[in-house]
Amino acid sequence: PRMPTCLSCARVSSRRWLNLQEYQSKKLMQESGVTVQRFYVADNPPDALQAAKRLNAKEIVLKAQILAGGRGKGVFSSGLKGGVHLTKDPSVVGELASKMLGYSLTTKQTPKEGVEVKTVMVAEALDITRETYFAILMDRACNGPVMVGSPQGGMDIEEVADKSPELIFKEVIDIFEGVRDDQALRMAANLGFKGPLKRQAADQIMRLYDLFLKVDATQVEVNPLGETPEGQVVCFDAKISFDDNAEFRQKAVFALDDMSESDPTETEAAKWDLKYIGLDGNIACFVNGAGLAMATCDIIDLHGGKPANFLDLGGGVKEKQVYEAFKLLTADPKVEAILVNIFGGIVNCAIIANGITKACRELELKVPLVVRLEGGYCTGGATPTALHPYLPSV
Ligand code: ADP
Ligand code: MG
Repeated sequence: PRMPTCLSCARVSSRRWLNLQEYQSKKLMQESGVTVQRFYVADNPPDALQAAKRLNAKEIVLKAQILAGGRGKGVFSSGLKGGVHLTKDPSVVGELASKMLGYSLTTKQTPKEGVEVKTVMVAEALDITRETYFAILMDRACNGPVMVGSPQGGMDIEEVADKSPELIFKEVIDIFEGVRDDQALRMAANLGFKGPLKRQAADQIMRLYDLFLKVDATQVEVNPLGETPEGQVVCFDAKISFDDNAEFRQKAVFALDDMSESDPTETEAAKWDLKYIGLDGNIACFVNGAGLAMATCDIIDLHGGKPANFLDLGGGVKEKQVYEAFKLLTADPKVEAILVNIFGGIVNCAIIANGITKACRELELKVPLVVRLEGGYCTGGATPTALHPYLPSV
């Protein structure tokens, strides 16, 4: 899970909303009439160079595309500093891109080892006289969408939120009414836009809200929403998160999800309708029901062990899913033992047992396995059953 940069919920989010890359979010913004700079996307240095020349801009900005923020102050495994580079000379863009593509970028929002950069955005750079922060997000406390803004946006917004919370402004939106003109203008004024820029910023805010609704977003974040010396209000950065429950009616948006930054095991698990989250330990857990799965992780921890994963098989499991789940668990090299903890009240234990025996035969299980099947359909009642000789029953 990544830290969301949204200010009203500065905590680790465990919900896995679909996130898109900046360039994909900006395409959606363009379609909604939001002002963004001209840009191209490249996945290799020669294309990046070509794009820089084609832009024919006074200044160019090269931006590494990863799902985490804080790129501006990030560092690449190639040694290059900064995931966002400005230059007036298009001929250096290929060289710069070669120090970004294929390397991992570490920022304050990524894991320590960073995230591999597979795409760069080559955009027209503009002078920015002022950087503000603006976001719209679904806020549980307000039962609906909220606009959040600060006149002091840019790369240190987390610090602003921390040290000068009085510079963070909120505006609760009535979902039936939408953003009222006076609300948009008040937010624009709070962001520090003056004269004709105030109207322009309010219009951008209204369009961002239209986009927020149109794509079923849970968050649209623009940091910075900047002001140029030519008197333009421009969205320089974009992060949109989407409500996974809306997938059925947002096919085009969800088709953009390349999963390239998702954990491959979690992606594979999702294919089989298994709720799997990788953890750092060495005891794999195979459990049905989220509550029992959490309790099992806790109990392992309580007894000095470390769970290798959270896995919720859910109810109504098929033998095939049991087998696939075992394949996932045994593929993890950290796993030194597997603990099966099944509540028979929501599944027929025979299905689990058949799935496990099939997996044991076909996958040549090399680690100890402890199985507990209890309740409901399960005959024999409450005795933990050890199917494997290496470990005593628990
Ligand atoms: P991140 O939030 O991941 O650090 P940003 O896209 O916000 O990445 O870029 C970091 C900084 O780079 C911005 O705050 C802004 O100062 C500068 N920047 C980004 N895009 C442009 C651009 N098109 N023109 C000029 N400066 C830019
Ligand atoms: Mg930013």
